[in-house]
Amino acid sequence: MSGVRDEVTQVGQGPYCVRCGDPIDAHEHLSCLDALVLEPPRYCAICRRRMVVQIVPSGWTAHCSEHGDLHGGNAV
Ligand SMILES: [Zn+2]
Ligand SMILES: [Zn+2]
Repeated sequence: MSGVRDEVTQVGQGPYCVRCGDPIDAHEHLSCLDALVLEPPRYCAICRRRMVVQIVPSGWTAHCSEHGDLHGGNAV
């Protein structure tokens, strides 16, 4: 089951905003998108769990206990 994980490596691809945790449809997340240029996400886009985020040299990694590791940043 690697397909799901691949789909959520892009910020904003899930039902929830990875920055504020609100549903993507709830409002425009313009400030969230701005912030995500500089900051890693905080919430899993699929299940809204708070993720464990680590900054790495290539960007960031974020771990959801249900959906595994996501990563992003300059190297992607
Ligand atoms: Zn948001
Ligand atoms: Zn999750």
